[in-house]
Amino acid sequence: MSIDLDDPRRFRTLAGQAHQVAMNMLRPISRKYDRAEHAYPQELDLLAAMIDGLSESGANEGAGAAGVRRDAADADEGIRNGANLASVMSIAEMCWGDVGLLLSMPRQGLGNSAIASVADDEQLARFAGVWAAMAITEPGTGSDSANITTTAVLDGDEYVINGEKIYVTSGERADHVVVWASLDRSLGRAAIKSFVVPKDTPGMRVDRLEHKLGIKASDTATIVFEDCRVPKENLLGSPEVDPKQGFAGAMATFDNTRPLVAAMAVGCARAALDLTRDLLGQAGVTVDHDRPASTQSAAAAMLLQLEADWEGARLLMLQAAWLADNRRPNSLEASMAKAKAGRVGSDVALSCVELCGTLGYSEAELLEKWARDSKILDIFEGTQQIQQLIVARRVLGLSSAELR
Ligand SMILES: Cc1cc2nc3c(=O)[nH]c(=O)nc-3n(C[C@H](O)[C@H](O)[C@H](O)COP(=O)(O)OP(=O)(O)OC[C@H]3O[C@@H](n4cnc5c(N)ncnc54)[C@H](O)[C@@H]3O)c2cc1C
Repeated sequence: MSIDLDDPRRFRTLAGQAHQVAMNMLRPISRKYDRAEHAYPQELDLLAAMIDGLSESGANEGAGAAGVRRDAADADEGIRNGANLASVMSIAEMCWGDVGLLLSMPRQGLGNSAIASVADDEQLARFAGVWAAMAITEPGTGSDSANITTTAVLDGDEYVINGEKIYVTSGERADHVVVWASLDRSLGRAAIKSFVVPKDTPGMRVDRLEHKLGIKASDTATIVFEDCRVPKENLLGSPEVDPKQGFAGAMATFDNTRPLVAAMAVGCARAALDLTRDLLGQAGVTVDHDRPASTQSAAAAMLLQLEADWEGARLLMLQAAWLADNRRPNSLEASMAKAKAGRVGSDVALSCVELCGTLGYSEAELLEKWARDSKILDIFEGTQQIQQLIVARRVLGLSSAELR
């Protein structure tokens, strides 16, 4: 089995459309919302309505949140619809426009990906069209997400949720939050489940918003749960605590979201490379892809090296999505894609600032913004170090207890 290294032909039209949207609708408001932190980008409502319209007409194959569904019922669907490939390609294009704005798109939250991945059919229908944020991180728990302390205790037909979640992307704007909580802390990581909590549920409140280095267009909230009751049908997946399955159920969400974050990094880095090549061109530096880098100027050689690194990230992103579309395990590849693209995204954006000198550092161009925006993509949904740890465990065949 081999994969074609070019962009999948079938999705080029979709990617082209996403690129046009990024260029004409996101870029023009990019700096405005970088400066107006916490202001809601109203312009996105129109865009979200357009995407909803495309989804309803069946014309949209991937602007939104796709899920890594592995159930037998749709075993062959993925090969036909390629939803994950379509998603990573269109998200990369949208992030060529603006990562913070892409993260602020109504109804396209990371919680939507979680629902798409693990909800049963009834839940999929019930939560269709919601905007869901994803709340895992807590004041005392980040990378070690198996140690979360938020609890969900069954009381009659409802779960009662207590705990505090921090750094929730779209935590204020989304109308639902997918919350990770433990059914019974004494049972360890197998007892961690995710729950969909509608925003107006009593006992749930947004406590504050964060000020950040980048992606300022995206809101990042602290959410407190105090005796917050949700119907027991809002638990995603099985309520059974299966020590053999361990953390696998909850972690399956990451197989879907990590390639998406890789796509964000690929798109943002591409933006930096494209602009840098233009600015270098205006300064008289031409980059020749047909001659060895060692025979060209230092600036051209560096750009060629950055482009090669970017290409590696893009291919790993496509591979992780392709595997998901073909119902193959992709945890290793999802982490590889996230690790490579997260690092490359940051390295490329900062190197482009360096290559363009004062213009790179100035607010006259968006390069300095992309250098700030890209850093988060190497942090959330698992940091660089955590992705490397996961890759090492899988390659070496070691458990999380054996290699930490
Ligand atoms: C802008 C923004 C948006 C976010 N959005 C969300 C969201 O929507 N939902 C959500 O749940 N969370 C979100 N997060 C939280 C994010 O996922 C966490 O910041 C991330 O998981 C890291 O956790 P931490 O910050 O507690 O760092 P820590 O886990 O304390 O890590 C600190 C450093 O130590 C390293 N490290 C930790 N453990 C190991 C190890 N075993 N081996 C080697 N190195 C290690 C890490 O890589 C990191 O460099 C967001 C964060 C930010 C900044």
